[in-house]
Order: sequence, then structure tokens, then C-alpha cells
Amino acid sequence: MNDNSASVAKSEDEPPNPAIEPGGIVSADQVSGISKLNKDNLKKIFDKYPVRITNYYFSLIKEKDDGVYKQCIPSMEEISDLGGEEDPLNEEPEHQVRQGVPSLLTHRYPDRVLFRISNSCAMYCRFCTRKRKVGDVNKQPTWKEIGKALLYIQEHGEIRDVILSGGDPLMLPDKTLDKILAAVYLIISKRENGIIRIGTRIPCVLPQRITQELCDVLKKYHPIYLNTHFNHPNEITTESKRACGMLADAGIPVGNQTVLLKGVNDNPEIMKELMQRLISIRVRPYYIYQCDPVRGANHFRTRVEKGLEIYKALRGHTSGLCVPHFVIDAPGGGGKIPLLPEYLQTITDEKVVMKNYEEKEFEYIQAD
Ligand SMILES: *Cc1c(COP(=O)(O)O)cnc(C)c1O
Ligand code: SF4
Repeated sequence: MNDNSASVAKSEDEPPNPAIEPGGIVSADQVSGISKLNKDNLKKIFDKYPVRITNYYFSLIKEKDDGVYKQCIPSMEEISDLGGEEDPLNEEPEHQVRQGVPSLLTHRYPDRVLFRISNSCAMYCRFCTRKRKVGDVNKQPTWKEIGKALLYIQEHGEIRDVILSGGDPLMLPDKTLDKILAAVYLIISKRENGIIRIGTRIPCVLPQRITQELCDVLKKYHPIYLNTHFNHPNEITTESKRACGMLADAGIPVGNQTVLLKGVNDNPEIMKELMQRLISIRVRPYYIYQCDPVRGANHFRTRVEKGLEIYKALRGHTSGLCVPHFVIDAPGGGGKIPLLPEYLQTITDEKVVMKNYEEKEFEYIQAD
């Protein structure tokens, strides 16, 4: 093992550092002012799933039950609806197909891994796929686990893309991030076409965390890509624009992953507005996810046809830059599977018959 990852690995059984303390709303008492639920019921939800709302995100609520409210304020269905699974995507090592994958990694695809370096988030989204574990202070990654993950990446030469995820990796202090990034970079930069990615909701829920100091750390490790997570047009503000602009100015391509959520964005007009606003703050839509069948988040699920309808309302009707892939992360660990409306009508040896965005039919004559 190289010097740098060894120095990360040799530390104790401790999590890296106290995570950043984003403040905000964390207790049932604080939520009871706005929530429809009584305190007893709120406490039951708080006992089961963590609640945290940044003051900034809370300030984006315009009215009860709007798209911002529903993402952050707990609702009774979280504990009353027992449908779905705790780990529908088989992310936990005991659910993974490959053997010997360290606890912080999910190695599903041949050339890339998900590396969960933090278990806390600035806000706990009510629909989170990882609500089984995020926010559990007993599950914060330790330096020892981080070292094991680095060793695995080192020993698997086929990995060329490391995705720092969580929880939210940007909850770690700059110094800690710097240390982990340096260790990953030392391995990945030697690999052909090696890249590092960061998956974070911070630009949306705590944009004040994106500082020049942070950007200066990140840009040492190019090529570095960042995917963030906006779900509603009201989340695009002066502050989030500033945060995303700073990342882009640091040379980091910023993408966005949106989850299709009932009552939040399951509407072509809202989704189109969101995608256009993202482009206007230099963020490129990457994925729209069908909501996973997660226990405690079933009430956010829509039918799959809704996602296809939204895709259809985007493609051709607005800039191609505003059109992300619509995917279902296949339950059981099958990975992301793209779905498309039926543009392709028939395909034969002679020709292809297609429908365009206006449902008009066109043909393309095949090559010999
Ligand atoms: C989403 C995901 C990735 C990254 O997928 P891309 O399509 O390359 O963005 C990698 N590993 C796991 C386990 C994932 O869930
Ligand atoms: S920021 Fe991401 S990981 Fe954290 S609670 Fe929200 S969806 Fe889950």
C-alpha cells in the first residue's frame, strides 16, 4: 500500500472527525409548530428515523404540503406504511453479489464503486433510499473502515471511477475530505481514465457549505465530477446558484439527480421548470430516478408511467441539455435501467419506423 492510504488506514477505530454541525431543526418540538401531527406521533417518527432540516431549507417552504415541505417534514406514513424493503437496492455488503467487499463500498458495476465516507446529512430527506441507516451516529465510518475500502480499491485495478457518497460526503470537514481525496487520488490518478465523483445534496440543502476553501480542496483532485440533488424548482435560489457557480468555476462539472416524488415533482410542468432552472445555474440534469420501494417512503412512489410521461414532455419540447435519463434502480441490485417512451415503432432489415416528440411517424432506411 502506498504511504498516503497507509497513513489514513493506520488510525484508530474512530470516525474521521465530528461531522460539520449544520444546526437547524432536529427535535419534535421544533417541528410541531408547522407539522399537522401531534407531538406523540412526531416522537414516534423521530424514534424510528432521523429528522434534520437546515434553517435555510426550512425557509424555502412557501406553504404547508408544498414540494419543499414534503421533502423535509415527517409524515405519519413513514411508520404506518410497512410496504417496501429496508435495503431494496442490495447495497449492504451482505446483499452484494461480489464477495469480500468492505462495508463502506458497493461494487456493483465493473469499473466503479460507491464509497460511503459519511453517514450524516445536512438534511434528512423523508424519501431517502438509505433511511435505514443515515443519521445513525453509531454507523459513522471509522478510519479503519475507510482504510479497508482504500485497500480494496488499490487491489482492484479494474476500478477507475470512485464515487464518494454517504450520507453526504460534504458533511466532513475540509481537512478530512482533503485527506480522503488525496488517498483516493493517489490510487485513481494512476489508472487509465481515472476519475473521482462526489454525490452530495449540500448545494441544495446547505449551499453556504460551498466555500472557496472547499472548492480549493476539491480542485486539487481533477478530474473531479459532482452530482447534486435538486427535486423542486423552489430549491433553485440565489444561494444555490452561487454554490453551483463556485463549483463550476473550480472546473467541476456539476450534474443533478432528481427523484420522482409524488406530490413534489410528479408533474411535467414542474419538472420542466426544474430542469430549465438547473441549466440556468450551470447544473446539467443527469438522472431522474423512479422512487425506490423503500420502507418508510412508499407514500412518495408514483407509477412508472408518470416518469415516462415526464420524459416525453421534456425530450424535443425543451433543450436536450434539460433532458436527463429516466432510470429505475432495479430492486435486488440490478443497477440503473433506463426507460424510454416508445419512440421506436418497428425495426426490420430494411427500415426503422419511429415516432418523434410530436407523435409524428418517420422512417429511416437501413444501411445494407
Ligand atoms: C448509481 C451507482 C453508480 C454510478 O452509476 P452511473 O450510472 O455510472 O452514474 C455506481 N455504483 C452504484 C452502486 C450505484 O448505485
Ligand atoms: S441527502 Fe441524500 S443520503 Fe442524505 S437523507 Fe437526503 S437523500 Fe438521503
